[in-house]
Amino acid sequence: MTGAAAGGAAVKKAKVAQTHTGLVRQARRINRELAEVYPYAHPELDFENPFELLIATVLSAQTTDLRVNQTTPALFAQYPTPEAMAAAQPEALEEILRPTGFFRAKARAVLGLSVALRDDFGGEVPGRLEDLVKLPGVGRKTANVVLGNAYGVPGITVDTHFGRLARRFGWTTSQEPEKVEQDVAALFPKSEWTMLSHRVIFHGRRICHARKPACGACPIAHLCPSYGEGEMDPEKAKKLLKYEKGGAPGQRLKPPPDYPGQPAPPLAAS
Ligand code: SF4
Repeated sequence: MTGAAAGGAAVKKAKVAQTHTGLVRQARRINRELAEVYPYAHPELDFENPFELLIATVLSAQTTDLRVNQTTPALFAQYPTPEAMAAAQPEALEEILRPTGFFRAKARAVLGLSVALRDDFGGEVPGRLEDLVKLPGVGRKTANVVLGNAYGVPGITVDTHFGRLARRFGWTTSQEPEKVEQDVAALFPKSEWTMLSHRVIFHGRRICHARKPACGACPIAHLCPSYGEGEMDPEKAKKLLKYEKGGAPGQRLKPPPDYPGQPAPPLAAS
């Protein structure tokens, strides 16, 4: 791994690329090195089919993927299809969704979504962006997650981690997700979009945190124009690492087989 365990003082702040070509080169190098750091990057929501991924993504608003993953086994055991979920009693849904927070609004959202899937799309999750965004409560971010991970259609997922890191890397200056998506799309071939999203989000969750990025333990520090924004001391930075990088369980109860960390605990055990 290039630049692994970059020591705090040894790394110079990378210059912000001035030209578009320079920026493209730097961005693609970051993507390549992130691929070495996280060869197992994947969506962190547990799902078995497009319907489960769509519902899990809607539920992940204002909470962690872990909490969603701990909640969805009971939900999908009882309501495995749009038809079954559309016929659910709101109170029964609320009870199951309580651990995810905002459970009344989320129960209404998944109910409305299931009714729309049943009535307008024959009980199937559509595989086109223009159809997905017509579903109630589904925006571009959710649509891109479903397209990229359930249908193999390349998509950039601009969540809070992706937006923050794209700005730290100098790929965009925008706070607006659609503009971030456009700016980043201009730097990478389409075929990279989905995996790039996973790698950047993995890095944001494990090392490049919002409040205190672990710069002193960051394997891509030598490429980063924002190096120095966070903890520079290697020992202190190491203590900030999360999930498998910090020796702790991940977010998925059923992670892919190549995931090097431990699975997340079920709800009762957490
Ligand atoms: S942790 Fe620091 S050096 Fe690493 S990507 Fe984030 S801001 Fe850059």
